[in-house]
Amino acid sequence: MGLLSSVFKKNDQQKPADVAKAEITKKEVKPVVDKITVGHVHMSGCTGCLVSLADNYGGLLTILDKYADLVYGLTLADVRHIPKMDVALVEGSVCINDKLSVEEIKQTREKAAIVVAVGGCASYGNITRFCRGGQQNQPQHEAFLPIGDLIKVDVYIPGCAPTPQLIRNVCIMAYLLLKGSPEQKALATNYLKPLMMAAQKGTSACFCDLMTEVIDQGLCMGCGSCAAACPVRAITHEYGKPQGTRDLCIKCGACYNQCPRSWFSFDVVPEYESIMELIDTVMK
Ligand code: SF4
Ligand code: SF4
Repeated sequence: MGLLSSVFKKNDQQKPADVAKAEITKKEVKPVVDKITVGHVHMSGCTGCLVSLADNYGGLLTILDKYADLVYGLTLADVRHIPKMDVALVEGSVCINDKLSVEEIKQTREKAAIVVAVGGCASYGNITRFCRGGQQNQPQHEAFLPIGDLIKVDVYIPGCAPTPQLIRNVCIMAYLLLKGSPEQKALATNYLKPLMMAAQKGTSACFCDLMTEVIDQGLCMGCGSCAAACPVRAITHEYGKPQGTRDLCIKCGACYNQCPRSWFSFDVVPEYESIMELIDTVMK
């Protein structure tokens, strides 16, 4: 008898009542956790941030199994209108030639308790700032704005694309902020505070902020992301460090929000071990 036929035979022998009982037992042992609701709102961008989110593999499945229900997401959830949700992860910038996109981002703000700008395009426009229309399938799309220029944003996740771990950690911290114990809420607040402050600065940050908060603090690692992000070439790299030409700066926030060190906080350092232990515990 082959392997498959022996499996079928075994299943045939199982009576419906046994199956029902097994399912009830399975439901009883599953821990009941007060989940948060999360939506992924996809505006204009390359979808790299969604790929980064998916790169959490088992970690993403753990979050969706234990802590968060996905209530909105193109191709991920069969929902047409933005529902009420605890956390909206917004990827991409807003095409202001497209009324539906403008309406969608406003709806997102109305329906979500916490709005997170995921990645460069949502945070400061990134590559979409260079778009001048004429794309083959959408030629009328020629002007894009970061979401913070249209709605209030609570948290920025910088990077193009942000790391999978950073997106995962923000999801966990949002859960702990909303559903955790007072101690967990305090740790989550500490972790999220620099990302909240980045959101408050929004696109009004400039090279001076990068200078005072990153370069002068000895945090710059010379990666060149700021120079690459500047749309007017106001930043050059000399001797491995960025130099800004302030007269050229249009104060767009691109360099600050693309810098992987701009949201580093010395205040979080003493808490870092406890935060990492908490993340480990939550993901087990
Ligand atoms: S113009 Fe360049 S230097 Fe000025 S804020 Fe934008 S990215 Fe930074
Ligand atoms: S992006 Fe930040 S860390 Fe990288 S070179 Fe610019 S200031 Fe330094």
